[in-house]
Amino acid sequence: MTKIRSAILLGILVVAILLSGLGGAPLLQARPQEKGPNEDGTADALVKIAGEGLVESHAYEYLAQLSDDVGPRVTGSPSGQRAVDWGLAKMRAIGLENVHAEKFSIWRGWTRGLAQAELKSPIDRPLHIDAMGWTGSTAPEGREADVVAANNFDFDHELKDMKRFSGKIILIVSEGAPRRSGDMIFAQFGDFVRAAEKAGAVAIIGGQAGFGSEGMNLTHTGILGFSAEFALPVVSMTAEDQGQVERDVLSGKPVRMWIKVQNMFSSGPVETANVVGEIRGREKPDEVFVVGAHLDSWDLSEGATDNGMGTASVLGAAEAIVRAGVKPRRTIRFVLFMGEEQGLLGSYAYVQQHDAEMGHHLGDLILDEGQGPVKELQLGGRSDLVAVFQPFVRQMAYIRPFTVNDKVEFGSDTGPFIAAGLPGINMQQDSPDYKYTHHSAADALEAVKPEVLAQDATLMALTAFWVADRPERLAKPWSAEKTAKMLREKDQYEFLKASGLWHFGDKGVE
Ligand SMILES: [Zn+2]
Repeated sequence: MTKIRSAILLGILVVAILLSGLGGAPLLQARPQEKGPNEDGTADALVKIAGEGLVESHAYEYLAQLSDDVGPRVTGSPSGQRAVDWGLAKMRAIGLENVHAEKFSIWRGWTRGLAQAELKSPIDRPLHIDAMGWTGSTAPEGREADVVAANNFDFDHELKDMKRFSGKIILIVSEGAPRRSGDMIFAQFGDFVRAAEKAGAVAIIGGQAGFGSEGMNLTHTGILGFSAEFALPVVSMTAEDQGQVERDVLSGKPVRMWIKVQNMFSSGPVETANVVGEIRGREKPDEVFVVGAHLDSWDLSEGATDNGMGTASVLGAAEAIVRAGVKPRRTIRFVLFMGEEQGLLGSYAYVQQHDAEMGHHLGDLILDEGQGPVKELQLGGRSDLVAVFQPFVRQMAYIRPFTVNDKVEFGSDTGPFIAAGLPGINMQQDSPDYKYTHHSAADALEAVKPEVLAQDATLMALTAFWVADRPERLAKPWSAEKTAKMLREKDQYEFLKASGLWHFGDKGVE
């Protein structure tokens, strides 16, 4: 029975009840908003895909293998290469076409070593720290030094007098009202670290906007600038330990700390690769919709939520479509990106390597927001497409109610596609615990619920197939000028320029 026919039958039923003389009293519960109809011819295939995705899901098995057998997979490391090999094998086993690796390089490899700290004064006690990625080391025996505060809400002021940090351990605090946006503080932090390095500081504690410690005695690692490295050791300290040190320093007590950090850089660039496989389109195989997530992770745990969830969703989505036996009108290209954590390196490499065919791309669909259920489709500034998605979103409501909007998420592999003028679609999730698992030692399989993963993977499959199969092509790329205008309206452009993420030369610059 089609949805139009059910609506007509329901209408007849209402009229019949009204005519039966019961008028006046509330006859029926408030009617839920009508679901459909979404009469674009995709429904039969979507039903099959939903069945495979929800009833026959293997996504959690894939996540368990990736977490336990591959484990942490930093880009450019031997385990990063193991992850690439694992991804290729999975795509082949699922039955994708044209499975292959697309190589690119990261400017330098980095390996974490020991990080230890001890408060020496006003009391003596051990402190919990871990190094931020692509940062350097102290002397091998460690260093004891005074701790002084620097305010990241006013780096402009701090940068004017860096000499006072010579021979000191710098504790980043946030005092007063921020003078810049969080994004710009992140972008400016690199300038501050470089200036501190030059001034002869010993190390920096904390201050990484977006990577702050949220408690539960967890440290959170991460990169300090896109494609950026620093010789100075910069560490994340647990919120509980940092709280005490901060109270001591700000109350004017003389604070001394011993710190030892030992990391290793490779001598030059290291090769890595994106993992690619396809379901070729039946009518327009040259038109491509990319469905992806990043395969790389940080190294304090297994990266189950960042971004094992996304990786397993991509593989689960691909498998649901293959097993449903349906072929989309256009090609769905599944991509597991490496290098995301160091500055979207894999997705930028993809856009560069596929430059000639970006005009035939419809956009990309990315899941990278932790362990929760999908709550929004964010269309990356493409306000022209919000209405196009509405019938599909209504159709999905009985699997999971979510909304659609044109928000821009540039902090994942959506970014390079948005910059290329395409809808970089972010599957925003409801993940309240992500603040604990994000880049921390708690990012393990225990944080993931199998049924939520299966549902996210299924919604990814359904969205991908619907986009690739609907009669009209979803989107064509906007010009660089139009994209830059949109990003400026969304308050993103200045940050992207400052972070080196706008790779389109002077286009869009006024
Ligand atoms: Zn991530």
